[in-house]
Amino acid sequence: MTRILDPSLRRQLSERIDFYKELGIYDFYRHPVPSGQAEASLAPPDSDRAQNRANSVTPPAVFARAADSEESLFSSSKPESSVSDPAQALRIIREDLGDCTRCPLHKQGRKQIVFGVGNPKTNLMFVGEAPGADEDQQGEPFVGRAGQLLNNMIKAMGMRREDVYIANIIKCRPPNNRVPERSECETCSPFLMRQIAAIQPKVIVALGAVAAKTLLALNAPMAELRGRWYDFRGIKLAVTYHPAFLLRDPRQKKEAWKDLQRVMKELGLRVPTASPA
Ligand code: URA
Repeated sequence: MTRILDPSLRRQLSERIDFYKELGIYDFYRHPVPSGQAEASLAPPDSDRAQNRANSVTPPAVFARAADSEESLFSSSKPESSVSDPAQALRIIREDLGDCTRCPLHKQGRKQIVFGVGNPKTNLMFVGEAPGADEDQQGEPFVGRAGQLLNNMIKAMGMRREDVYIANIIKCRPPNNRVPERSECETCSPFLMRQIAAIQPKVIVALGAVAAKTLLALNAPMAELRGRWYDFRGIKLAVTYHPAFLLRDPRQKKEAWKDLQRVMKELGLRVPTASPA
């Protein structure tokens, strides 16, 4: 049933949605609202609570109320959503990202944004963690030593680097290559989600724990995350070791190869029996 929102609450919600759009966030998810709560939330807001709501930066509580009450307010479309060509959609997303200053990494020594590279019409997408020094220098993901190993992994699968698409959870190099902070992942990953939505690969391979945990919103060790398929918004997602980890512990390459063989099978690629060198 369509309900009418209080006009001032509607305006505040609308401003809040515009704010999220400026951040590049277009997707909002419904949280089930226990019966009775939706009604209660539509009672004329007392001014303090309304103000708190407007100041809150956590979307779900606000959106849960509103999703039930005014559909149109939330049916905001992304700038690329009317575009069917994935390459053009990626260009629009890149343009929307701009010279990003949404998180503090922009003033912590990043040279450039590392957006992503590869075939926009691919079946296979790799997602890593964050650019390192080489990537920051060249503006392309996985071009350093870990990148060379990733290239070899792709080759062993019978593909070329330019056949797949490669991106990271965050697009700017963290100082001293530290692990990205949660807030950085949360601020940046909506752009990755839009890249994934534009490309619509058949399979995503999450490289390492940061990529896996961010994409799956799961907190589990690699040993538990590997070895199974996940449904990521209708796309099959597999988890394997990060190439940088494999450089430090090459004995795990055999395990990573098992993960990649499962991916090859899913993509209908010929799976060689022998391990690559
Ligand atoms: N490690 C990553 O996770 N991504 C890169 O682009 C390079 C190294």
